[in-house]
Amino acid sequence: MIGSKVNEIVSKVFDGHFITREEILSFLRIDPHSMEGGFIMTAANSMTRAASKGKAEVHAQIGLNLSPCPNDCSFCAFAAKNGVFKETKELPVEEIIESALRAEADGANAIFLMTTHDYSFGKYIELSKEVRRKLKPDTLMIANIGDFEYEEGKKLIEAGYTGIYHAIRMGEGRDTQINPETRLNTMKAARDAGLLIGTCVEPIGPEHSVDEIVEKILIGRKLNPCYSGAARRINIPGSELEPFGMISEYRLAFLVAVVRLAMGRELVGNCTHEPNILGATAGANLFWAEAGTNPRDTEVETSKGRGLDVKSCMNIFREAEFELYRGPSIIYSEHHHGMD
Ligand code: SF4
Repeated sequence: MIGSKVNEIVSKVFDGHFITREEILSFLRIDPHSMEGGFIMTAANSMTRAASKGKAEVHAQIGLNLSPCPNDCSFCAFAAKNGVFKETKELPVEEIIESALRAEADGANAIFLMTTHDYSFGKYIELSKEVRRKLKPDTLMIANIGDFEYEEGKKLIEAGYTGIYHAIRMGEGRDTQINPETRLNTMKAARDAGLLIGTCVEPIGPEHSVDEIVEKILIGRKLNPCYSGAARRINIPGSELEPFGMISEYRLAFLVAVVRLAMGRELVGNCTHEPNILGATAGANLFWAEAGTNPRDTEVETSKGRGLDVKSCMNIFREAEFELYRGPSIIYSEHHHGMD
């Protein structure tokens, strides 16, 4: 049976209201395998399909470099302390362009260029401009880089970026050397400079409390982003978080559903990572294809490791009975949120 309280909260979302911290917490405490758990996943699925008119998007991320990064986020393969990569490596510009053109030809709705936190901003801008020149003018470019300020945000726009991906990660300031305020300031600077913001509750592991999950959901919602979603932490062998294990794709799909409902009715996008069909049946309509370097992979070239290409991501969405949106991302657009 579905309890009247759960029904009431879900109806509140469908009526266009934001639900409270306590209401989100009550969802997070539900057993995903109960009738109520299934109801929440179905409600999120139906809401995403209504908001996006049954369309899913695939964005392509290209990791430009790897380095033993001094910020030492415990969940990241690039963290110096995790000792996965001992050397610095940067993808040659020709390879970056080739990857970007392939993703564009395969129908990616946006192209992300990602770097480690310590990558030179000047170099990033130069490379970005080169890639921009080779892509079609209406192909969207999104930056996924370390923290920056307003002036750098302006430079990203000049280089042809529409938005950024940024998040206050799970365990920020505890499992990372970065102050959560710094992450927040970057997002504010990006917004002021005119960049759109995509975010996500990530990387979630079994070590995280429901209180921390709800905290991060609400930080994301307050930012009025283009989308949020949920992604799980992938175990990096030898890292100090490895003993905790990983949450299952099923648990992740349930969290994807809770985030979807918490973000409100109007948001078109809800993401999950890594791409999986359960997520696509529980409210996710945005996946990432990956090439180049990847903070969740111990392979230097993730397309030979964990990363899926655009076509594989599209196939997962097709199996979940989504249509694939063609053209520049609707999710990364100004009209993402109807409830400011
Ligand atoms: S997540 Fe970013 S800041 Fe943290 S170690 Fe990895 S590259 Fe560095």
